[in-house]
Amino acid sequence: MTQPRTTADWQALGRQHLLAPFSDYKQLGAKGARIIQRADGVYLWDSEGRKILDAMAGLWCVNVGYGRRELADATHRQMLELPYYNLFFQTAHPPAIELAAAIAEIAPAGMRHVFFAGSGSEANDTVLRLVRHYWAIKDQPQKKVIIGRINGYHGSTVAGASLGGMKAMHGQGDLPIPGIEHIAQPYWYGEGGAMDPQAFGEWAAEELEKKILEVGEERVAAFIAEPIQGAGGVIIPPQSYWPRVRKILARYDILFVADEVICGFGRTGEWFGSQYYGLEPDLMPIAKGLTSGYLPMGGVIVRDHVAQTLAEGGEFYHGYTYSGHPVAAAVALENIRILREEKIVERVKAETAPYLQKRWQELADHPLVGEARGLGMLGALELVQDKKSRTRFPGGIGMRCREHCFANGLIMRAVGDTMIVSPPLVIDREEIDALIGLVRTCLDATA
Ligand code: PLP
Repeated sequence: MTQPRTTADWQALGRQHLLAPFSDYKQLGAKGARIIQRADGVYLWDSEGRKILDAMAGLWCVNVGYGRRELADATHRQMLELPYYNLFFQTAHPPAIELAAAIAEIAPAGMRHVFFAGSGSEANDTVLRLVRHYWAIKDQPQKKVIIGRINGYHGSTVAGASLGGMKAMHGQGDLPIPGIEHIAQPYWYGEGGAMDPQAFGEWAAEELEKKILEVGEERVAAFIAEPIQGAGGVIIPPQSYWPRVRKILARYDILFVADEVICGFGRTGEWFGSQYYGLEPDLMPIAKGLTSGYLPMGGVIVRDHVAQTLAEGGEFYHGYTYSGHPVAAAVALENIRILREEKIVERVKAETAPYLQKRWQELADHPLVGEARGLGMLGALELVQDKKSRTRFPGGIGMRCREHCFANGLIMRAVGDTMIVSPPLVIDREEIDALIGLVRTCLDATA
């Protein structure tokens, strides 16, 4: 096959053969995809040679930045040593065992076991199987219902999309599957109206208790939530929210699943979002920052009592060909080593996140910005027509803003009219200054 060379060649070949995820096929048909060819640090280059600041770290995942030779070397070494073997049927291999141990060291106290998967979605499929299996072992097989949240995102497989609360995803494929309920999200700016943010946070937390009582405690297996909702629009809950949720969870015999796929591996300035908020989950799905996206890998970290119950249950008829894949595990180990040795998480907490957040707040004075919010290495801007009444633009403006970002060499994500950033954790001050400058240019172009 001839190697296509021009952007138009790539786009044409893509149109002929590639079915891209989460892409509007009508738009792709008309315009063709943007072709990303290489990357280094916090920057990407497209097939036209344009330099783009990747303020999304890929899909919230390239925590250590692009171009880390150590990760390529770890891949190469492991490929030659043992490119593949599985963890099925009483076998294991050193990279998976060492990785589980390394994760146990950074995880919240008392969470010392990991079940590996190939992605965040697979991790959440594992969550569904695991929590139901857990209750069956405990002679409570009727405890099957899992409570998630509207606009929560837990992946795109049937279980992941069902646990998530994305209406558009539910609309395709008859989801959610039975046994999954959703409650309100703690989205004060969008849904709090005239309510004080703290009162709204408590109201949103109490929705959990209402749902538990409606379903019946004896039927509820688990509550699943992201510490900060990512794909739902970087929803940072009011301070009152998590303490109230914790009190409610303490009252009922249900498992708590903190989906750390985005918040994990340093994004909040702690290793996990649960540590930032002082949560004590029973299960934590992970992926993305686990390998900084260099290879696909996910997993579920479980609390000791869950691992103990599983041990009593005999065989767990669940797993993936690539659970704990040795090459992905070697990359994850090297990625964790980089995060630790370069003190990247500590630096996020002490320097990078405070600086990003200080500069991010400056954007609040822009005429389009109704709210500038952020935490750790996450930021969101609410675009509105009228700041006072929080009135949105008819027909929306987020996609237009995103186009201006592309045109100006910036990747920022649009969730409706909420513009989002989640840059690599290694972004430096100068690059943050460049990011803020580009965001302002794009907002000006959109206004
Ligand atoms: N959970 C959360 C919180 C996510 O943000 C995502 C992906 O964005 C997933 C799960 C699914 O992960 P994956 O796309 O690796 O399947």
